[in-house]
Amino acid sequence: MPLEPVQAILKAVAFAAHKHRDQRRRDPAASPYINHPIALAEVLSIEGGVTDSDILCAALLHDTVEDTETTEAELRETFGEAIASMVMEVTDDKNLPKAERKRLQIEHAPHISDGAKLVKLADKICNLRDVAHRPPANWPLERRQGYFDWAKQVIDGLRGVHPGLEGVFDEAFARRPVE
Ligand code: ZN
Repeated sequence: MPLEPVQAILKAVAFAAHKHRDQRRRDPAASPYINHPIALAEVLSIEGGVTDSDILCAALLHDTVEDTETTEAELRETFGEAIASMVMEVTDDKNLPKAERKRLQIEHAPHISDGAKLVKLADKICNLRDVAHRPPANWPLERRQGYFDWAKQVIDGLRGVHPGLEGVFDEAFARRPVE
């Protein structure tokens, strides 16, 4: 029996919380990692009015394959093809060097599905807010600015998918660190 939307969302939050249970964010307070995927889902739902539960689930699960031992097959089995494929669209290939992964995000952004574009948009909004307000202690100004500039290049490649959230991104970008 397929899950109701709210059941799928709760299952995704519980799955992600379990997978990320030993990880922390890079902010000075070392916040629990799960705060980040929850923040994406909140941005999409509350700030973007997104109601599609597949997209909200993909947001909650977006870092499980990239940053934990979760596999694509496991996601497909647990959450179905639509959610699993959206997560894979926003998953970097960690076998590649970091600079190449960053370049590929810019190159791929225009070509991913609309659902994946929304997840990516929310991810960059949340990350800009984190870098602006609680950056990792060892990130000098240039690195913070570089992160902002790269994120903008990624988002500029997918504009048109959700003007409201693109405006939210632009507001976050306006806090680009200058000192
Ligand atoms: Zn993320």
